[in-house]
Amino acid sequence: MGFLLEYSDDWGMIAPFFQGLREKRLYGTRCPACERVYCPPRAHCPSQECRLAETEWIELEPRGVLESYTLLGLSTQEHLDDLPLILGLIRVDGCSTSLMMRLEVDFDDLVCGARVEVKFREGACRMRDIYAVLV
Ligand SMILES: [Zn+2]
Repeated sequence: MGFLLEYSDDWGMIAPFFQGLREKRLYGTRCPACERVYCPPRAHCPSQECRLAETEWIELEPRGVLESYTLLGLSTQEHLDDLPLILGLIRVDGCSTSLMMRLEVDFDDLVCGARVEVKFREGACRMRDIYAVLV
């Protein structure tokens, strides 16, 4: 006799970000006090002056700048066939923070400061379902 355990994810106040991925839309949050934009989203502004003001959702254009990258040679069992992976820090246009995601580019073409576009896999609902390409 076995048991069936059912799990559900609850992303709390940043759930709209993941709901957006399903629609191939990128969302961030903006602080109404200091107007900083966060992607990955933050439910509250961490700036000391803003005293954890609750942020507002805004849709972002899926474009930005490659700030940094690394070649990943280790992975969990699930992704061993994908190695080596290139991970990049992408600052989406207009944002104050950077979002880490996989880069699907030739390693030799990478340069910090390059313009990139964020892409969504079919059925995207997790961070690993988005990736960036050079434009
Ligand atoms: Zn703020």
